[in-house]
Amino acid sequence: MSFKPLTPSDLFQCKNCGQCCKGYGGTFVTPEDIQAISDYIRTDPERFVSDYCQKSGRKPVLTQNPDGYCIFWDKACTIHPVKPRMCKAWPFIKPVLKDIKNWEVMSQFCPGIRTDVQVNLIKKIVEKEILQST
Ligand code: SF4
Ligand code: SF4
Repeated sequence: MSFKPLTPSDLFQCKNCGQCCKGYGGTFVTPEDIQAISDYIRTDPERFVSDYCQKSGRKPVLTQNPDGYCIFWDKACTIHPVKPRMCKAWPFIKPVLKDIKNWEVMSQFCPGIRTDVQVNLIKKIVEKEILQST
């Protein structure tokens, strides 16, 4: 009998519900994100920051509309190909390695996350995904 190794898509498949695009203290954008999104929406980085970002401390985060959703959410992410690193990384993020219980917590609002998988396998895949993205 042979077993197929688990892949990231066995652990997570986005359902496009938009829950992670609402609230939660905002989405940070790196200088690379700012450049990529500015190019995508055809503006310049300075204008992008003043028109689409607000500050969290000294760092820019994407503006949230009064309903709490990210300014780029419109039934789906409207900048999907260039969405910020933080959005691309989800749910393979460092807090899961720090405390695996965070996977379960995250799954409570993210319906794309599977929890019926052995904890050591979840950790292994999260670790690999983080390594590949750095
Ligand atoms: S909460 Fe999860 S399933 Fe919903 S849009 Fe975000 S990543 Fe996708
Ligand atoms: S950039 Fe896209 S994926 Fe990220 S929070 Fe905004 S709408 Fe959601």
